[in-house]
Amino acid sequence: MTIQTPAVGVETPPERIQEPEAERRRVPEGPVKVVHAFWLAGMSCDGCSISATGATNPSVEDLMTGSIAGLPKVVLHHPVLSVEVGDEFIHPFELAAKGELDAPYVCIYEGSIADERIAAENGGYFSAMGDQVIEGGDRPFPTADRMVEMAPGAAAVIAIGTCATWGGIPAAAGNPTGSMSVMDRLGKDFRSALGLPVINIPGCAPVGDNFTETVAAILLFLQGMGPLPEFDELGRPAWLFNETVHRGCTRAGYYEEGVFAEDYGDKECLVEVGCWGPVVNCNIVSRGAQSHMGGCMAAGGPCIGCTMPGFPDKFAPFYKAPPGSAVSSAASRTVGFGMRRLRALSNHNVSREVRWDELYGGEVPSGWGNVEKPSLLDKTVHFFYEKLQFSGSKKPGRDDSDKWATDRPSRVRGMDAPHDVRETEGRE
Ligand code: SF4
Ligand code: SF4
Repeated sequence: MTIQTPAVGVETPPERIQEPEAERRRVPEGPVKVVHAFWLAGMSCDGCSISATGATNPSVEDLMTGSIAGLPKVVLHHPVLSVEVGDEFIHPFELAAKGELDAPYVCIYEGSIADERIAAENGGYFSAMGDQVIEGGDRPFPTADRMVEMAPGAAAVIAIGTCATWGGIPAAAGNPTGSMSVMDRLGKDFRSALGLPVINIPGCAPVGDNFTETVAAILLFLQGMGPLPEFDELGRPAWLFNETVHRGCTRAGYYEEGVFAEDYGDKECLVEVGCWGPVVNCNIVSRGAQSHMGGCMAAGGPCIGCTMPGFPDKFAPFYKAPPGSAVSSAASRTVGFGMRRLRALSNHNVSREVRWDELYGGEVPSGWGNVEKPSLLDKTVHFFYEKLQFSGSKKPGRDDSDKWATDRPSRVRGMDAPHDVRETEGRE
C-alpha cells in the first residue's frame, strides 16, 4: 500500500485498500474456543473504553471469562486494560498481522484516524502503538497503519464510538489533523475475513451494551449458533439504531401535547432548548447509558446528535433549537392545546372510583384533601364519552346502591358474589 503525500490541510483520501477475494485470509469455521479481540486506539479520549467496561448486558467480563453459554472465551488485548506491556503486549498484534495467530480475531478501533503524513512532515506522529522497523531504525508505528495490516485477516473490524465510525470531533470543521473514520480509511471495498464491511457502533461515548451485544452476536455467528446479525446500510447493528431518539423518549408525551422546556432542568420536552432527537438514530432512551440507567434526556440533556455521521458540524451550534422544530413544535402547540384540556377532563374522571360517582354524587371520601366534585361540564362530556366508549358493548353495572360493594360482572359469569348482603340474607 502506498500513500501519496498531499499538501497539509488538503483532505485527499488515501488510496483504498483492496484485496482480491481469493487472497483474503479466512477465519476457521466455528465452533471455536478462543477469539482474540485487539483494541486499537487512535485519536480518542478513551471514553469508548470506559463505556465498554461499564457494559452489563453482556459485560466485558462475561465475554472474557467465556461464561456465556456457547460463546468462545475472548482474549482482550487492550492498551490500557491489559497487564502485559512492551513487546509482550505488541507480539500478538504482530502475529495477527502476519496471519500467524492460532485463533480467529476481531479488530476494534476507538478514535479517529489522523492523517499521519501531516505529522510526519514535522517528524512527529499523532497516534501510535509500538514501534515499526524502518530503514535507518525504528519509528512509532501509527495505530491506524497497524489496524490496516490486521484488518483483512480479522473476522470483523468494529469501529466503536463516533470518532472511529464517522470521524467525530477530531474531524470537525477545520480538521487540522486530517482525521477520518475507519470506514473512510479502509474504503468501500474493504471486507474482513468473514466478508463483512466495517461494523459501526457510534456514540460519543457509545452505549457500552451496544458494543458488547454486537460482539456477542458476531461470536454466535462465528460459532455457527446464530444468524449473521443485521446491519444497516451504514454498518450499524440495525436492531439498535433503527429508531429515532424521539420515538422512545420519556419526554415525547410533552412534545405531543405541545409543552416545551424553557430552561435546562425543566421536565418537559427539550426541543426548544436544542434537542435534535426527532431526527437522530440512537437507542440510549430505551437502553440507558449504563445498566438501563441514565442517558441524555433522563439526565436533562437535549440530544446533540452524537451518534450521527453529521456530528458535530451538522448539529452546531449546540443548545439552539433546530430550525425544523419551529414547524413541528408550532403544530404540537396548536393541537396539544386542545388535547391537553380534553385529557385533563378524562384524567379527572378516571381518578374517581365508580362508587364515588354513583353513591356520593362524585364526592371523594379522602382524608387527604378536598377533591373537587365533577362539574357540569365534566358530567356532560363524560356522558357522551361513555356513549362512545360502550357503543357496541355492554357497560359494567353495579347493584349495591346502599349496601356492600358487589360487582355485577361476577354474577354475569355465574359466580356467587360473596359480599352481596341482600342475597345472603334472602337465602337464610
Ligand atoms: S426531548 Fe428531544 S427526543 Fe425527547 S421528546 Fe423532546 S424533542 Fe423528542
Ligand atoms: S440521545 Fe443524542 S446526544 Fe444522547 S447519546 Fe443519543 S445521539 Fe448522542
